Amino acid sequence: MRKFENQVQLIKYEVLKEVSKLAFKGTIKEERHKIPKTIIPGPEPRSRCCIYKERAIIEDRVELAMGGNKENKNIIEVLDIACDACPINRFVVTEACRGCLAHRCSEACPVGAIRHVGHKAYIDNNKCVECGRCREACQYNAIADVMRPCREACPVGALSIDKDKKAVIDNEKCIQCGACVYQCPFGAIVDKSFIVEVIDLLNRAKEEDIHVYAAIAPAISSQFYYAKIGQVVNGLKKLGFYDVVEVALGADIVAQHEAEEFKETIEDKGVMTSSCCPAFVSHINKNYPMLKDKVSSSVSPMIAISRLIKNIDDNAKVVFIGPCIAKKMEIKEKDLYGTTDYVITFEELAAMLDGAEIDLEYLEEDSLDNASFYGRVFARSGGLTEAIRHVVGKEKYDIDFEPVICEGMKECEKALKIAKANKLKCNFIEGMACEGGCIGGPASLHHGPKDRGQVDKYGKEAMEKDVKDSIRIFNIDGIELEREIEKDL
Ligand code: SF4
Repeated sequence: MRKFENQVQLIKYEVLKEVSKLAFKGTIKEERHKIPKTIIPGPEPRSRCCIYKERAIIEDRVELAMGGNKENKNIIEVLDIACDACPINRFVVTEACRGCLAHRCSEACPVGAIRHVGHKAYIDNNKCVECGRCREACQYNAIADVMRPCREACPVGALSIDKDKKAVIDNEKCIQCGACVYQCPFGAIVDKSFIVEVIDLLNRAKEEDIHVYAAIAPAISSQFYYAKIGQVVNGLKKLGFYDVVEVALGADIVAQHEAEEFKETIEDKGVMTSSCCPAFVSHINKNYPMLKDKVSSSVSPMIAISRLIKNIDDNAKVVFIGPCIAKKMEIKEKDLYGTTDYVITFEELAAMLDGAEIDLEYLEEDSLDNASFYGRVFARSGGLTEAIRHVVGKEKYDIDFEPVICEGMKECEKALKIAKANKLKCNFIEGMACEGGCIGGPASLHHGPKDRGQVDKYGKEAMEKDVKDSIRIFNIDGIELEREIEKDL
């Protein structure tokens, strides 16, 4: 029995599943208009005011599930029609207001936005500057902060509200972390999907000499709780993937490379940051340009594994499958473009499998064993640090490795600020935009503390116990593992 975290995730899944179903059938263009009625059959609405609005929203969701607005380079879009239920003003006086004599709220307000009528305070929203001092001053907690969840979630202030009271994303500021997608309670902010293009590729691969590889992120070990990893691998092959490869092997390669880079450059750099989380790297590019030269020049595990696959197989196309939305943007970066062909998320994979009527629970288990323990635990925070520490120790590098592990943008921001001021007491920053690391990604099927344990269990099941053991099986000579940390889309 499939479980969903909430109705937003369920509706997203239903749309992706219907789109997948028609794409596999080859009739998506002709039959896409049927999807809104399939999902909202009526006569009763599911959660909004009427079925007509719900169907109109589904129509827009179908558009995004088919790639969305090509003019908008951002991978994340606001569904205007679905964005209409949040409070417009941030601070609201509630029923708890006692109409006291002290009027500490209006005394605290620096712009005179509060007046008292009868026995109640009122906020003039034309004057309010959202400083929150009134809220802090009220002894009855009678002033509520109802900041829009998307704005609250955005770590870089990329979200604002337009004159029609709709959320707007500033693409120049956005780092594609996906926090707004995950936090919007109405599902009004959505990541574009490329499942139709991936399904088209899989369909073409049946006729043409194309080998479509599924590169699965190690976070998958905590996701398909209703099936074993081996059954997911089998399911991917049934979908038409030529083979399934662990991105954790790319993580092993990156760990070895990054440890060597650390040894060679840390004296000059003073501090080095990880480079595998695209939202973290984007944040440095956009907001801490003075720290760009501290970012490791290693490509991400996704790019490393894609290059390895393409080095081995001339007919390869690579589809990365993971919990991350920012990866959809990473593959478009100028110096990486064409390396990984598509990115789909775990949410999208689950919908594709169900759209193709592949029931994982009843499949035989296929094998998957490309990576070491260390590559696999990259999926959770602290994993990358463990891997580098392991290489530093194993290779007996004569250096001090003093890491700080940052999970979530708040912790990243704190470490970067201190590094900018040259006051960081450590010499390595592991930066992951999502809490918990990749397993906390916005497009994970579920989130929670158990996921970390699942990743560790998966790590311990690896046949290869050492980073070098897994790398030495493959010839990685000649694979470019360095890149310029400069975004130019
Ligand atoms: Fe802000 Fe992240 Fe949403 Fe971009 S994706 S608008 S950075 S929360």
